[in-house]
Amino acid sequence: MPENFVHSPACRWCGKGPLRFRFSFEAKLDRKAKPEDFALEECQSCGSFQVNPHPDRELLRNFFTQKDIYLKGVDPDGKAIDPLARAEEREEEYRNYASHLIPLLPEYGTILDVGAGTGLMLSLLPKKYRRLALEPNPLAAQKARERDKGLIVIEDFIEDLNPSSEPLILVICNQSLDHLLHPNLTLGKLLNWLSPGGLILLTGLINPQSLAARVTGPNFRLWHPFHQVYPPRKAVEDKLSSYGLDTLGIWRPYFNTPYGSAAALFEGAFILAHAWLAQGSKKIVSPPWPGNTISYLAKKNRLFKPLKVMDGNAVTA
Ligand SMILES: [Zn+2]
Repeated sequence: MPENFVHSPACRWCGKGPLRFRFSFEAKLDRKAKPEDFALEECQSCGSFQVNPHPDRELLRNFFTQKDIYLKGVDPDGKAIDPLARAEEREEEYRNYASHLIPLLPEYGTILDVGAGTGLMLSLLPKKYRRLALEPNPLAAQKARERDKGLIVIEDFIEDLNPSSEPLILVICNQSLDHLLHPNLTLGKLLNWLSPGGLILLTGLINPQSLAARVTGPNFRLWHPFHQVYPPRKAVEDKLSSYGLDTLGIWRPYFNTPYGSAAALFEGAFILAHAWLAQGSKKIVSPPWPGNTISYLAKKNRLFKPLKVMDGNAVTA
């Protein structure tokens, strides 16, 4: 097992299992590293794929606090990209989420963005709300402060925070939940922190049942050791429902992202057809494709009432 990698015995999405080995994929741990093989396992209870053995807490923390990851990057096709510029190119997608969220929000309250990056998503929401940008990367946190003076930027990891007594009206995990060591435990904490009627937006969860993932298998462009867990749509909706949340919206971002266009769709169809015909005999990296990732908007049911504690131990509904 590589250094700073650990094996989890149970599914890190549903907590159950068993986990069954599916295949290995090749990836680089960071831009400068050599490609290595990583194992993917599938949960036999919920269908989530997961990297296992997976990076431990120390490796994840060292990686996500490097300023460098916001200065230079490579996309899954190996092309050099400017991560800060690439993040700005998501504005159209984020504006779409904001247009759905704003009419559903109450008059006032607190919003938490977990892994807020440079603060783009929060900057698109009205300034009358208390907007908390939780971002452990020092460079991204600095950019968020510069972008919007109204943001309260907290340079920390969600795992280290206790829920405050102040309930949240909206939690955003924008392409961040699957980077966490234990996304299931963190999601449980966040959902308990949400007020009745509160909203949660989970974006960019990678779908292991997407057409491109099924056709290209180990060569699917989004497998990566820092993407910890890949829950299919049903596993996400079951999880949200188990916490008393109703799913209000589902998106498969493509045309309003930096990767999607009519020309890219045409080229992608050609690549997928080629990969399907080759049946794994050649390494053909999957193209960006609609459904590679799914975003979810859900609302916490208002029917949950707090318990009334009477005179010490007696509890009534
Ligand atoms: Zn599972």
